Amino acid sequence: MSVVERGAVLYPDLNASYPVAVSASDSTIRDDQGRDYLDGCSGALVVNLGHGRREVLDAMHRQSEAITFTYRTQFTSAPAERLARRLTDLAPGSLDHAFFTNSGSEAIEAAIRMALQYWQERGRPGKQLMISRDGSYHGATLGAVALSGHPARRRTVEAVLPAWPRAAAASCHACPFGQQRHSCALQCAASIEQEIVKAGADRVAAVVIEPVVGASGGAVPAPTGYLRAVAEICRTHDVLLVADETITGLGRTGHWFACDEAGIEPDLMVLGKGLSAGYVPLGALLVSEEVHRCLRDGSARFTLGHTYAANPLAMAVGEAVVDYTVRHQLPERAARIGAQLTRRLRTLLAAHAHVVRDLRGAGLLIGIEFVAPDTDGGGVEVRADQLVAAALRRGLVLYPAGTGTVQRTVLVAPPLTISETDVEVLLHRF
Ligand code: PLP
Repeated sequence: MSVVERGAVLYPDLNASYPVAVSASDSTIRDDQGRDYLDGCSGALVVNLGHGRREVLDAMHRQSEAITFTYRTQFTSAPAERLARRLTDLAPGSLDHAFFTNSGSEAIEAAIRMALQYWQERGRPGKQLMISRDGSYHGATLGAVALSGHPARRRTVEAVLPAWPRAAAASCHACPFGQQRHSCALQCAASIEQEIVKAGADRVAAVVIEPVVGASGGAVPAPTGYLRAVAEICRTHDVLLVADETITGLGRTGHWFACDEAGIEPDLMVLGKGLSAGYVPLGALLVSEEVHRCLRDGSARFTLGHTYAANPLAMAVGEAVVDYTVRHQLPERAARIGAQLTRRLRTLLAAHAHVVRDLRGAGLLIGIEFVAPDTDGGGVEVRADQLVAAALRRGLVLYPAGTGTVQRTVLVAPPLTISETDVEVLLHRF
C-alpha cells in the first residue's frame, strides 16, 4: 500500500511503503500478502507476552462488558486498585503507590512534575533541576525529550527545551573516559555527582536513569557497582532517584525490574511498554511512601492527568499481563532464553567478527553493534537501517538503535514467551 496517496496515514518515513499487518499470534505477524514476520524485537520492546494471548484477550472481553471508561476525578475501579497493589507488591523498596498513564512518556512527565512538586512541598522550592545522562532516551513529549541525551531526537526542539544538566553515559563498550571494562573507578557515576555539585545540590530535584539503556544506546547494561553508587550519590545530596524502567520493567532483563538486580530502591519508577504488552496503551509511575506522604500531608493534590489515565480496560489488561508474567515465570524465562540466544548469536557472528564491534545486553534485551567504517571497520559499512530493512525483507523484524548520526546497533528482543522453534527461525533469518 502506498502511503503517499491523499488520506494516507503518516508514518516516520514519509516516502516509504509499509507492509500492512493483518494478524498475529505468538511471535509471528502476518501481512495482507500472506507473508509472515518473526517479531524479533517485540514491536518496540513492547509485546512481552507475544501476540494474541488468550488470557489477556479474555480479560479485555470481560472488562469491556462491565465498564471500559471511568474518569479519574470521579471513580476508581477494581482492576485499577488490584493492578496498583500487584505492582507495588512486586516493586523494590517502598514504592507503594501507582499513578497510571497511557504511555512511558506520560509517566516520565508525571515523574518530572512529582519530583518538582515534592521539593516545593518540602519547603525547598529551589530544587527544580532534573539531571539525566548522555545517550539516554526518555520519551517523545517535550519534558521527556529535555531529559533525553539523544541528539537526533532533540534536534528540532532544542531551542525550546529547559537547559537541564546531563552527566556522562555509563557505557563500557564506548567509555567516555577511555577506561577498560571492569578496571575503572566508575568515573561515569562520579560525573553525576559532579553535575549535582556544579549545579548546587540545593537546586537539583532528581536524577533520572535507565538502569539498562534500551533503545537509544542499544541494550547497554550499567557497569557493576554503578547503580548502587548513583543511588548513594542521590542519598548523600538529598536528590530523588528516578528509574526509567519503561523497557526493562516487567521481566525483559531477566528480573522483574532491572533495579532488583542492582539492589537499588528508587524514589520513583517509570513503567510502560511491557506493562500492557501491546494490548492497549498503558504506563505507570510508582511512587515511594516518602514522596507520597509528603504530597498527601502537604497540598494533598497531584493534579496532572490525561483523560484516559487509569481507564478500567487498560487496568484489566495490566492485571492480566502481570498475572501471566507471574504464572509463567517470564523474568526467569527471559534470563534463560536470553542467555541461550546471546550465545547462539555470538557463535553465528563469529564468522563476521570484522564487522561486529560489540554484542551485549541483559536477558532478552540484546544489542549488536557494528563497526564504524572510518574508525575501526577498514571501509566496511554496516548501517542499522539497512540491516533492519534487509531483515524485514527476509521476514525478521529487528529494531535499530544508537545515538550517532548513523545508527550502527540492532536490538534483538523477541517476546519473553518466544518458543524454542521460533528462536531457531529467528536465528536462521538473522
Ligand atoms: N523511556 C524509555 C526508556 C523508552 O525507551 C521510551 C520509549 O521508547 C519511553 C520512555 C517513552 O515511552 P512511550 O513511547 O510509551 O511514550
